[in-house]
Amino acid sequence: MNEAQIRQLITETGRQLLADGLVARTWGNVSARLDAVHFLITPSGLDYMQTKEADLAKYNPQDKTWEGPHKPSSEKGIHAAAYDIFPEVTFVIHTHQTYASAMGVWDFEHLKITDEERRTLGGVALASYGLPGTKRLKKAVANAFETGAHTVLMKHHGVVVAGSSKEEAYQRALLLEQICKRQICGTDITEQQLDEEQMRKKDAILLDIQRNYPGARWVETDAAIRWSQKGKALFAQLDDMAQMIGKAIHCVGTESLVVNNAFVTGANAVFVEGLGAVVLGRDSDDTAALQILVDKAAVSALHSYNATGKTRLSGFDCALMHLVYQKKYSKQKNR
Ligand SMILES: [Zn+2]
Repeated sequence: MNEAQIRQLITETGRQLLADGLVARTWGNVSARLDAVHFLITPSGLDYMQTKEADLAKYNPQDKTWEGPHKPSSEKGIHAAAYDIFPEVTFVIHTHQTYASAMGVWDFEHLKITDEERRTLGGVALASYGLPGTKRLKKAVANAFETGAHTVLMKHHGVVVAGSSKEEAYQRALLLEQICKRQICGTDITEQQLDEEQMRKKDAILLDIQRNYPGARWVETDAAIRWSQKGKALFAQLDDMAQMIGKAIHCVGTESLVVNNAFVTGANAVFVEGLGAVVLGRDSDDTAALQILVDKAAVSALHSYNATGKTRLSGFDCALMHLVYQKKYSKQKNR
């Protein structure tokens, strides 16, 4: 493949990740080896739907320089680790996929997987936690790759897969999600059916809230409804929730005014007892991303509900990530 074809493959893969629900918004990133030194990688904070071939960054991990119109993804270090450790690897994908992220929060050591699946994944390992974009995270992921595993769950964050082709890497990401979903669904998360009265209540609440906030939407997945039945706040276990939503999603009663008040105080997501969650983004893209994040947060919280030991992110890390995200977001909007 020549450079133009590789650039095209990367941008197509980004759009495919969005369509397959393996990433939301501008999270995750994709790269491909270009020559003995460089790799091409998606830029930092750019929407996959808008990313063109010319937007990619050409990165040199040896002297840490890059060429291109945008800064390379802040997670370029974890891609560099894959190319460095595995000479045969030509394609690396970092995702924020729902079920594997939940397995990365808790109980990875009991992952139910066949020998054949493990071989197809090229080995699987868990990397310890590091804040996004830090040396600590890069080191943790490199250590996981050093075990020979080509599929790595990043604790409290997501997944990174390395393959000798785009197809191999992509299939690994999909297979891992299937394995984790099989384990989590049916046990931690069961199918939820709202009765007629609950459905009426839900419609009435949304109509009321939309008078003040027309962009508000329900999150009505099984996991969101199941968590809302607990009537408890959900504390962040994953970096993307900490960034976009903050430390916690609170749970309120089913009076419209109470739900409305949550948005008045600046929240962008709130659970409503027994009915699911309501989210409110800055625009429709933002709201769609919040729907995915709240569902994922609920999957993870339900999966680890009976966990012993710490599964939450620290309040300090959450506050830091939320602040950095808000700064970055306002900068992007002003561009
Ligand atoms: Zn990430």
